[in-house]
Amino acid sequence: MAVVEAVTSAPGEKRRLRLANPATLEPLGELEIDDAIHVREAVDRARKAQAEWAAADFAERELHLQRALRVLVARSDEFVDRIVEETGKPRAEALATEIATSCDALQFYAKRARHILAERRVPLHLFRTKKLRVVHRPLGVVGIITPWNFPFLLALNPTVQALIAGNAVVLKPSEVAPDSGRLVAELWREAGLPPGVFELVQGDGETGAALLEAGVDKICFTGSVATGRRVAEVCGRALVPCTLELGGKDPMIVCADADLDRAARGAVYGAFSNAGQICTSTERVYVVDEVADVFTRKVVEQTGLLRQGSGGEFDVGPMIRAEQLAVVEEHVGDAIAKGARVLAGGRRNPSCPGFFFEPTVLDDVTHDMRIMREETFGPVLPIMRVRDEDEAIAWANDSPYGLNANVWTRNKRRGIRLAKAIESGCAVVNDCTIAYGVTESPFGGVKHSGIGRVNGVQGLLGMCHTQAILIDRLGARSEPLWFPHSARKTEWLRRALRWIWGTSLGRWLA
Ligand code: NAD
Repeated sequence: MAVVEAVTSAPGEKRRLRLANPATLEPLGELEIDDAIHVREAVDRARKAQAEWAAADFAERELHLQRALRVLVARSDEFVDRIVEETGKPRAEALATEIATSCDALQFYAKRARHILAERRVPLHLFRTKKLRVVHRPLGVVGIITPWNFPFLLALNPTVQALIAGNAVVLKPSEVAPDSGRLVAELWREAGLPPGVFELVQGDGETGAALLEAGVDKICFTGSVATGRRVAEVCGRALVPCTLELGGKDPMIVCADADLDRAARGAVYGAFSNAGQICTSTERVYVVDEVADVFTRKVVEQTGLLRQGSGGEFDVGPMIRAEQLAVVEEHVGDAIAKGARVLAGGRRNPSCPGFFFEPTVLDDVTHDMRIMREETFGPVLPIMRVRDEDEAIAWANDSPYGLNANVWTRNKRRGIRLAKAIESGCAVVNDCTIAYGVTESPFGGVKHSGIGRVNGVQGLLGMCHTQAILIDRLGARSEPLWFPHSARKTEWLRRALRWIWGTSLGRWLA
């Protein structure tokens, strides 16, 4: 449900937004906005329910995830229909990236979280008279704020990780795709989650801002850099930890020895799947001169095969809303004005009623164009020719973003070396946009692309606070460092220092 317009409401009534299908522009009803009081009540309910949920053993929490998995598989067709209606994305993409990836997350954490979060004894190298145990305890109530581009997966996945670690969750999905938030709530209800452990609040930025101020113990935010900055400011003032999964401007580097057929297909998929509205979309290509003509020709050929539309089988859907379409038009217009050549697309699709922009390939682009510097978040693939891989790396790193990147070469060692040279939270060799879907792979950005990680061991640990428990083993009457201090003790400490950390001569003297 994409087109969001404010509806005039009478005094005392809840604010409402009017929603419409982004592909057909048909009305899809209205969304009532939850206010700050409603949000605080939801957080209070979650806090009350959390203690019992945290006290439950892993087996019980795992059972709820397994039940949710069964519900999701059983209702997958209906869920796909509803996600497609509100986003316009192709059914195959909704099934693979929203539903299958969510199924995997449910199963992965149901099976592995117990091991990842297990209490551990850590042997001590110095304090031999003590024992150390490291335990991972839930944070309490986690507030999760999500965007519209993968409205189901990005709402469910952090929720799964928070819940299995023993937290309660208050989810605020995007106002542009609120039905996916409802689907997440339905899933947990059918899985029999105890009341209050998962709470849904609906609304726009005001509701999100209210959640930041409602006394939660952590915020998991996924969205734009601009909003992420505001979230970080509020969390910083309240000293509430936050994970920020923000925007990207993923570079693709095509080496001279790349498999150009695979690279061209990968470029087209990376740039145009979900109509380019992926934080890890391929947003800029650097191809070395000697293969640039062949690579570009293949990209244009593959782009020409794409079917754009809605309903039935198609490859590329609409942009989700008018504002996003306007950004794409501005970036393409700016690039053309500064000398870029349009090899495919370059305009709105005149044969579709909704927010469709044609899959667009641009050549002769330079780094003074917005299309190479700002997140476009639309179906545009700008290609820049470079002398060699070193130049490609320099341009790839000439960006405030650092989310994901991809490198194409037949030489895996070179691929890994180049991947390491890119300033990004994730990098992929000979593939693209898969990073978030690989459950073991910690996902997140550097630079303006975010703080913290979701997924894998790091993501799960981010839903906990780590407590160190030190236990005395001997039970002696006193400890050497306790009071009283004396000259003898100081001398003893000096000798100990030389003995433990000094040179061989120092040890001998000690
Ligand atoms: P957005 O920042 O406009 O909104 C994201 C969420 O924040 C929405 O739920 C919105 O209602 C809420 N919000 C708005 N103002 C708020 C405030 N002041 N306080 C609290 N919450 C507030 O982003 P969007 O347009 O929905 O999503 C697109 C952006 O998300 C792109 O930049 C994309 O790259 C990024 N994204 C990042 C990832 C990732 O994992 N790194 C994944 C998907 C999308």
